[in-house]
Order: sequence, then structure tokens, then C-alpha cells
Amino acid sequence: MKHEGILIVVSGFSGAGKGTLMKRLVSKYENYALSISMTTRGKRAGETDGVSYFFVDRPTFEETLARDGLIEHAVYCGNYYGTPREWVENQLEQGKDVVLEIEIQGALKIRERYPNSLLLFVMPPSIQELQARLGKRGTETPDVIRARLQRAAQEAEGIEAYDFIVVNDDLDACMEQIHEIVRAAHLRPGCNKEFINQLKGELQALVKGEK
Ligand code: 5GP
Repeated sequence: MKHEGILIVVSGFSGAGKGTLMKRLVSKYENYALSISMTTRGKRAGETDGVSYFFVDRPTFEETLARDGLIEHAVYCGNYYGTPREWVENQLEQGKDVVLEIEIQGALKIRERYPNSLLLFVMPPSIQELQARLGKRGTETPDVIRARLQRAAQEAEGIEAYDFIVVNDDLDACMEQIHEIVRAAHLRPGCNKEFINQLKGELQALVKGEK
């Protein structure tokens, strides 16, 4: 059975650990490619342009949007974020499973535009743990942390739109669980239309006595 690449959307509250999870997944298994988003948010300490994000100003973002250069975009805590179209589509054509680490508005748009996409939501083991992780990161001011917790509360309302939730208690266990889900997702009929149609055609031919 030939496998086409699928879009894997990974969302989760800020501080749920999805960034670390995805980096591990992509470095362990070869079938994945991690999309790099474009954002107008300021660079945090330790982030590199072209690696963490493509950091751009608002006019550049708006211009990219206007020429349909993004497959989805959203505003999150006052900044624009979007997924570059060309790279993602190339990777999918090459059979890669493309991971998009995006928030819920974007996730819902992807589901609409790419029905075979897989939507995963990463949960922290508890809200206390989430708060502790956000504080420990040390890159955000208390106001930003508060805004992100508020946003988490809003996003919690949309979790039911996702296909699976995974709890990030143990990093490696959670990563392996995601990999298993992706492997299973490839077996959905919608991801194997060519194979199914071929099989149906052969079966029909057989029934009609053509073979
Ligand atoms: P952060 O500022 O913490 O890097 O990201 C803030 C939120 O924006 C996270 O939930 C992250 O997953 C999301 N995000 C990052 N890139 C994109 C994108 O391209 N599109 C959308 N819709 N959300 C994104």
C-alpha cells in the first residue's frame, strides 16, 4: 500500500510541551517534516530566525497572506502566525507527514481544507504542572503568562474538534504514542483512495468475469 503524506496538526496549551515533543518525534523518525511558521511575534531569547519561526514584520505577513502564500493563519495574543504553503505542499507530495504546531483557529481551518488531516491535542498532566512549566520557561513576563492561561481556557472549549488527545506526562512515552496514532491514521480509507479504487475495479472485473 502506497502511503501519501498527511498533515498532522498538533495543538496544546502554551507550556504543554508540544515543541519539545515534536522535535523529538521528527528527529527519531524519518517520515516527518516539521513546518516552520511565519510570525510577527518578537523573537524570544534562544530562538533563531528560519529555525524556530520566520520572524517578519506586519506588512511582510500581510503581503504573504494577500498572495495566498499561507495555508492557514491566525491571530494569537495580538500577533499573526501562519503556515507557509509552498514548503508544506512540496513535502506532502514527497510523501512526508508534515507536522504543524498550531493553535485551534488554524487547526479548524486545516480540517476544513484538508479533510484527511489528523488533529492532535497535547494536554499537560495537570493545570498546576502547566502553570509551573510556563513560569519555569523564564522567557515570559507575568502579563504574558496570564494572557496565555486565558487563551488556554478559551482553547479548552474547542478540544472536542480534535481527533485525539495525548497527555504529555512522560515525554518519550507521549512521543511514541503520537507516532502510533499517525501510523494508524495512514490506514484510514480516505488516505488510501487509490489502493481502494484499484481493488474495487479488480473485484468488479472479476465478478463480471473479465478476468
Ligand atoms: P508561541 O508564541 O508560543 O511560539 O506560539 C503561540 C501559539 O501560536 C502556539 O499555540 C502555537 O502553536 C501557535 N502557532 C505557531 N505557529 C502557528 C501558525 O503558523 N499558525 C497558527 N494558526 N498558529 C501557530
